[in-house]
Amino acid sequence: MKRVLLHVCCAVDLAPAVRQLRMEDYEVIGYFHNPNIQPEDEYTKRLRAVRRLAFAWEVPIIVSLYDPANFLGLASGLWNAPERGRRCELCIKNNLQATRDLAASLSIKHFATTLTASRYKDIEMVNKIGESLSTKETIYLASAFRKSGGQEFASYIVKAYNLYRQNYCGCIFSKRDRLSKRRKSDE
Ligand code: SF4
Repeated sequence: MKRVLLHVCCAVDLAPAVRQLRMEDYEVIGYFHNPNIQPEDEYTKRLRAVRRLAFAWEVPIIVSLYDPANFLGLASGLWNAPERGRRCELCIKNNLQATRDLAASLSIKHFATTLTASRYKDIEMVNKIGESLSTKETIYLASAFRKSGGQEFASYIVKAYNLYRQNYCGCIFSKRDRLSKRRKSDE
């Protein structure tokens, strides 16, 4: 069977990604590498939900050490960059690069990411970054997991398993921007 190391950002996005990859006959191994998720209790909530769904669906999950300083270092000077801008490019690249490197060291031929299931992400940007990291030995699988009913499926699974669903992308800057938007709309 073909194997893929799937970068996992959250349980909500894991659901349509696993469904799609299994339909394509991939054995899925998950990799939770997200130094961008802050604060730590948010990281823990997302990881706990991923573990619950992965356990139910028999998806092995590898978890990296939580290292928010790694993300804050690369986001330095980009605190006010807009979502889908330069900070996001570096953040996505950081997670995909780590996934590719782990796939290579485990001799897993393909890597992919649940980020293309996320309503917060630009699918084209994610795939472009993934493709730029592809090598002859470790190949990026482009995807669009939120399309073809993926988003509806994710909502169904969230309800069915009573999973935690976040309301911002992940970093403290995206949380700040979400809160400020909400405040403005309440005024
Ligand atoms: S908004 Fe999302 S993709 Fe962009 S830097 Fe923050 S966590 Fe990463």
